[in-house]
Amino acid sequence: MTTTPELRRVFKAHVMNPLAPDRLEFYDPGYLVVAGEKVERLSREDPRGEFPFAGFIDLGHKVILPGLVDTHVHLAQFAITGIGAGELLAWLNTYTYPEEARFADPEYAAKVSEMFFDEMLANGTTAAVVYSSVHEQAADIAFSAARARGLRAFIGKVMMDQNSPATLQETAAGSIAASVRLFEKWDGADGGRLRYIFTPRYAASCSLDLMKSVGRIARERGAFVQSHLSENRDEVEWVRSLFPDCASYTAVYDSAGLLGEHSVMAHCIHLSAEEIALLAGRKTKVAFCPYSNRTLRSGTMPYHKLRDAGLHIALGTDVAGGPSLSMLRQMAETSILAKTPTSS
Ligand SMILES: [Zn+2]
Repeated sequence: MTTTPELRRVFKAHVMNPLAPDRLEFYDPGYLVVAGEKVERLSREDPRGEFPFAGFIDLGHKVILPGLVDTHVHLAQFAITGIGAGELLAWLNTYTYPEEARFADPEYAAKVSEMFFDEMLANGTTAAVVYSSVHEQAADIAFSAARARGLRAFIGKVMMDQNSPATLQETAAGSIAASVRLFEKWDGADGGRLRYIFTPRYAASCSLDLMKSVGRIARERGAFVQSHLSENRDEVEWVRSLFPDCASYTAVYDSAGLLGEHSVMAHCIHLSAEEIALLAGRKTKVAFCPYSNRTLRSGTMPYHKLRDAGLHIALGTDVAGGPSLSMLRQMAETSILAKTPTSS
């Protein structure tokens, strides 16, 4: 079956085509042939002779590039983007938890979900790994909003069964049951564009029992997992005191079976050499959020140490710890960081 001619369009612009982490092609100009929703061809030669009925759009000096990917972002914090002060633990209690509690209201959850994904698309991001709030219905609403826009998204209901405000704290059993329902409803939906990701918030807000259950389910079902690891020095000390039998923060997650190829750990700043080796050995993925790390004064992720250990690292905005949904801003921040003498 051939695509009907009126659905085919030829775009002329500068085109940036990434091929590998250290290599890209630049077309100046390039011609992108789009049939329906699919990119059919990219060429330096004008293809209009071959497609005489295709629409033609000349974008002049604009640049076309693939959709950007945000590997760590909090939908339920979107409304407090750019607001707040202080380091992580105070910021969570003062600004973040009260805002996330508002997602108990499905109308509010729907309104923010629509705005969040619209703003994400406006910034050129077409794929994201997303934290919702603890509320099952709010996560369900977030999936619907992502599906309505054709986004590729990994979305998880946050899990918290200890050291959390009463408005947000769950039981381990309730948290697992709600997450499994969402997993069964949404994982692989919309032609595989949507995936469920189990989301124990971070070790301080999760019991070992809860985390072990997540680890078991993830292993049995091949599910994705995301969490935060070693973002802030006070957080690291707190986790150490909460789990005295574990050698390190990373070891807490490892003992629960949360590390692996399908796991994304955000921040990974204050890690020992043993912890970096453990993450690499488990092939855990790392979300690097430099703008958020600067804003919350968390520290600087030792990028080169992690990369040299063989870890796969990708950028995340960490809105609202980070003040912008723009991945271009994250890239600019990373570029500045790479030129800062104190970065490692
Ligand atoms: Zn985060």
